[in-house]
Amino acid sequence: HAKKRGGNGFLFYDRTMNAASTERVALESDLRHAVERSELFLEFQPVIDAQSGTIVSAEALVRWNHPRLGRVPPDRFITLADETGLIVDIGAWVLNEACRCCRGWHVAGFSDMKVSVNVSAVQFGQPRLLEAVRDALSHSNLPPKALMLEITESSLMQDAESTAGMLRALRNMGVRISVDDFGTGYSSLSYLKRFPLDVIKIDKSFVRDLCVDEEDAAIVRAIIALAHSMRRSTIAEGVETAEQVELLKRENCEFFQGYYFGRPMNIERILERLEAQKVQA
Ligand code: C2E
Ligand code: MG
Ligand code: MG
Ligand code: MG
Repeated sequence: HAKKRGGNGFLFYDRTMNAASTERVALESDLRHAVERSELFLEFQPVIDAQSGTIVSAEALVRWNHPRLGRVPPDRFITLADETGLIVDIGAWVLNEACRCCRGWHVAGFSDMKVSVNVSAVQFGQPRLLEAVRDALSHSNLPPKALMLEITESSLMQDAESTAGMLRALRNMGVRISVDDFGTGYSSLSYLKRFPLDVIKIDKSFVRDLCVDEEDAAIVRAIIALAHSMRRSTIAEGVETAEQVELLKRENCEFFQGYYFGRPMNIERILERLEAQKVQA
């Protein structure tokens, strides 16, 4: 879609579009080999329980170590992966790796640890997601209840009937579901009632100015109240300050995630943090 049609019907490319599409094609062919060349890796960001102040879970975030470009952030390649179908392989790899890592924490003695995995819009729309989840669980020997899938609001809104079917099938496997980036998509709130969702993740754009912007504070309060009235729990994303923590605690937000508690980190670092909190307890 880097093409534009001129007034006289000729296709033309301007210099910037040309450069952008060349880069895209190059990136696409590199991405095609990223999995087999082991260029992808996962980082994990801790999720903290508000009451105990301890790490109870971690979100798996994929990174691409590109041979020339260095570290390519997921925002730059997940959409590309969705558009090209490469998300099927990448998504399966992420699921397998995240489940394997979480099982490792269990084996190390942290048997209550959970892991969450982001599922893209395209992945969520495909029945083979079920097989990928089942494979990842059985290969890793991870109990299904330790896995949470994060699905964005807009993915849930694609097609009500297939969404309901997919969520039911995942739930039947024992996997939990959260709504990612809640509040940023176009959506009808009635899906919260209709679909079996466990957790709502309050988008970081509302958390950022929570303590200085009355409207953001009102939105966060409303999201938490809505979630609780439907017996769902909430995770606040993008928590960066002690003031945000205090305010969120007062509003009875159950879980926190953000730089204040830790940036995304490698699997060993998570284990160190778990060991450290065991010593403290
Ligand atoms: P997300 O799922 O909403 O993940 C949270 C993002 O917020 C992560 O960015 C994380 O590093 C960042 N973040 C965490 N705490 C803070 C904070 O305190 N302040 C700020 N400003 N940011 C914070 P990241 O890792 O760059 O990932 C971006 C997005 O890429 C993710 O948003 C998710 O939608 C997507 N993504 C990442 N990994 C995967 C994956 O394995 N599969 C799929 N389908 N999507 C993924
Ligand atoms: Mg997420
Ligand atoms: Mg999010
Ligand atoms: Mg996001």
